[in-house]
Amino acid sequence: MPRIHHRLSLRVVTLTMVLAAMTAIVGISGIFSLQEFKEDYQKVKDNQFETLLNITEFKGQSYEILKTANGMFLADNKNDLQWDVLYISDKQLWLDKLFKQLYEATDNYQELSALKLRLFQQTSVTSKAMLQLYQIANRFFIQYEKVEQYKYLQMSQRNYDVVITTENIMTLFNPMKNKNLTLEKEVKLDDVSKIINSAQGKISNQEYTDLNTLFMGESSLFAIYKLYISQLERIKALRAENKQLSYLIASVTGKTVLSIQKKFLINLHKIEEKIATRKSRLYILLIICFSIAFVLAVLQINFLKRVHLIRKVIDAGYSKTQDQIPIKGKDEFSEMARAVKDYIDQLLSKEQEVSETNKKLKHLATHDGLTNIYNRRYFDTHFSQEHLRYLRYKEPYCLAMFDLDFFKNINDMYGHDIGDKVLIEFTSRVSEKMRQTDVFARFGGEEFALLMPRTNENNALKLMQRIIEVTNSTPCIVGQLKIDFTTSIGLVEVQKIEDMQDASKQLIFADKALYQAKQTGRNKVCVYQGES
Ligand code: GH3
Ligand code: MG
Ligand code: MG
Repeated sequence: MPRIHHRLSLRVVTLTMVLAAMTAIVGISGIFSLQEFKEDYQKVKDNQFETLLNITEFKGQSYEILKTANGMFLADNKNDLQWDVLYISDKQLWLDKLFKQLYEATDNYQELSALKLRLFQQTSVTSKAMLQLYQIANRFFIQYEKVEQYKYLQMSQRNYDVVITTENIMTLFNPMKNKNLTLEKEVKLDDVSKIINSAQGKISNQEYTDLNTLFMGESSLFAIYKLYISQLERIKALRAENKQLSYLIASVTGKTVLSIQKKFLINLHKIEEKIATRKSRLYILLIICFSIAFVLAVLQINFLKRVHLIRKVIDAGYSKTQDQIPIKGKDEFSEMARAVKDYIDQLLSKEQEVSETNKKLKHLATHDGLTNIYNRRYFDTHFSQEHLRYLRYKEPYCLAMFDLDFFKNINDMYGHDIGDKVLIEFTSRVSEKMRQTDVFARFGGEEFALLMPRTNENNALKLMQRIIEVTNSTPCIVGQLKIDFTTSIGLVEVQKIEDMQDASKQLIFADKALYQAKQTGRNKVCVYQGES
């Protein structure tokens, strides 16, 4: 049986595997690139965040920063004059409301800053006058922010006699207590004016003028301070209104921070949207890829199954077991398998027919039609083979020639058909007696030959006698008829002759012995005794 190679199947399987691998690669690389994109996004986020912090720091604001779950920060300064930021929990809310609040706060703050400046200037002027008046110090510095510690240090290193902060502005007025001047937080200008007026005469003219400068009029330190305080209150109130909303009291610095922050958030939002789009696109792509790979794999498997079916049909054809293969499908491969199976079935049945015909022909060619023993042709071939074996191995064989006696009479008496029956009966009796290795053939008419390989004359003679006995002792019974018949036999043990190759000579010797048997009374066997 020829070997069927699996080249096509292998190619198909390889193609499927390559396809599956490609799908897997697309998927994995997609996931990786998405991951990278996410990491980049995180970097951008961190970077922006860092920038934001740097700007904040650069502006010299004091702050506390807390990172929150959302990655935003809260810079909360206890000092009301610093800007506060910002906890954004709802971007939309932040965008919609915070800006509005922010600008309002910014305006307030700018006003506050202006006030602060005026307060500072006024304090310097007034304090200088007062300190000189009371001969406290010649060199001094006024600072209104306690938190600006570094400035304070700088000033003290420069050998100022006094450094005054805004927090102890009130302390500045403490010496006034000795002059019966009191100053509460909520002091009405009228009251202050009364106190100063009542002090007139008790203090010098210069002192009186200075105190007026300090407390009276729109540009007095006291008036500015009051404005400052009230502005501060307004800002505080504004903040309280927007508790749930984190906000910024923004200077120009604050605005900048805010706009950066806004951009930052918008960028982040854009990137997040991009990631989401990419993710869903990737998933759709993966689903499509996997579906295609799956469908192709199923198709390939079906294809391979059908191809395998055809192969099975062919294999079964070779091993002649076609019937066990059911073919159900309706596709062209199944049809092909069916066609191949039908074709092979036809071939197989033809082959069987031919082999049976051949057997019959062979039988016809080698057997006699009437008696079904070997015919002359077969005998001749076999006989020359046996003779060759004799020549080579020197094993003797015997040859017997039979001729039924007075057979013409049997025919004449009972008819040709009955004669045929006698011939058949005779051959069956001989076949029973002879060895399986002997070759018995009809030479023609009522003449037969028996070849006995590896048999000497003695043994052959015994067999011949038994045949004569079995022939003449029992008649052939056909219906009611009992037909007696006998045979004459000429026997020869293979003779050494000049031309050793000539086997036909042996037949002539047997014939001679047969002739002798006929001449000497029939129903007997005569052995060839040589030419003499
Ligand atoms: P013998 O040999 O004893 O001398 O006498 P015989 O009558 O047998 O002699 P012969 O050889 O002359 O006759 C042979 C007869 O065998 C002639 C023929 O009618 C008959 N015979 C030959 N072939 C067949 C056959 O196939 N069937 C039948 N029924 N008879 C046959
Ligand atoms: Mg004859
Ligand atoms: Mg005869």
